[in-house]
Amino acid sequence: MQKGQQAILDRDSLSHDSSVAPELLAWYDRERRELPWRAASSVKQDPYKVWLSEIMLQQTTVKAVTPRYDTFLRRWPDVTSLARAELGEVLAAWAGLGYYARARNLHACARAVAGELGGAFPESEKDLRKLPGIGAYTAAAIAAIAFGKRATPVDGNIERVVARLFAVATPLPTAKPEIKALAERLTPAERAGDFAQGLMDLGATICTPRSPDCGHCPLGEGCRAEAEGLAEVLPYRATKIARPTRRGVAFVAVRADGAVLLRERPLKGLLGGMLETPSTPWEETAPSDIEDHAPVAAIWDKLPGLVEHTFTHFYLKLLVYRAEVSQGAMAVDAARPEQCRWLKRDELADAALPSVMRKVIAHALDARVKSVAKAKPGARAVARASA
Ligand code: SF4
Repeated sequence: MQKGQQAILDRDSLSHDSSVAPELLAWYDRERRELPWRAASSVKQDPYKVWLSEIMLQQTTVKAVTPRYDTFLRRWPDVTSLARAELGEVLAAWAGLGYYARARNLHACARAVAGELGGAFPESEKDLRKLPGIGAYTAAAIAAIAFGKRATPVDGNIERVVARLFAVATPLPTAKPEIKALAERLTPAERAGDFAQGLMDLGATICTPRSPDCGHCPLGEGCRAEAEGLAEVLPYRATKIARPTRRGVAFVAVRADGAVLLRERPLKGLLGGMLETPSTPWEETAPSDIEDHAPVAAIWDKLPGLVEHTFTHFYLKLLVYRAEVSQGAMAVDAARPEQCRWLKRDELADAALPSVMRKVIAHALDARVKSVAKAKPGARAVARASA
């Protein structure tokens, strides 16, 4: 079917879908985004680069990922070198990208591929899904983009474009299987990887969440949402459940030489394996037994203000206590003393510290200046007597 003769897409009929892939691929060949992990159109994709970029891009923007991707690739140019790295190094290089389970799984996956699989990623979605951190979306993306298999990854951009093309009325997330089935129907047997990347690029540049530029869309003539005036409101979303707020207290102990006391979080769970300042548990009510969680005997200053951070499932508000301790001070975290260690100030930049902990440390170090300037004599809150 020639451009200009395209019929509106119909979810109940296969007959009108055939023009979508050619139109989109022709547009992709002209307009594709240049991204560091994309090979030139005539060059075979490197599965390691595809995998690394897809893991990094989960719930993270291209802008945030690009510098980290470059750093990873310079430091670990292939899966074998990444497998040889220590987990702590990988977590430190990942810091700031969030969702740290991805970094732990990335490392475990590199070790599985470099070890049991002899350095080669499997090509099928089924075998890719057996690897740590590779779910349905990532397996389909690697199979299609790196190996040219007919597979259909559906990320947020593709979800939006397909929901609009067919004017899917079911709200997300209930609509996910329906959208996946429609996207599969559109996927061509050849160039499935380029087709997926074309949909991603279309979603990122033209079929954007708030102001789709339907006038410049290569699929505009067949798009049901455009025909029905629904482009800006689709896809519908179910009302979100409000995020709860959790509260806690973080303790920043600063040694005479400027080193900061940090603790390693348990490997499993939120921010697993990352470093933190010792803290109370994070709970819905403010902790009442604050002193019991101070990691070292000292005079603790309660700092003004709060450190706030948004996680996927909750908001966090942390009160920060700060203490200056002598050079010989020992960490006495009764629960896990072996997990505590002092990091010098110049080691903090490369440490595996999540963003929330960087905020806590910055708040504490910054507050010292204000505290010296503003604190009145006798204003110190003593949480624990001096040793
Ligand atoms: S015509 Fe508009 S709504 Fe439809 S796919 Fe293109 S940009 Fe999106």
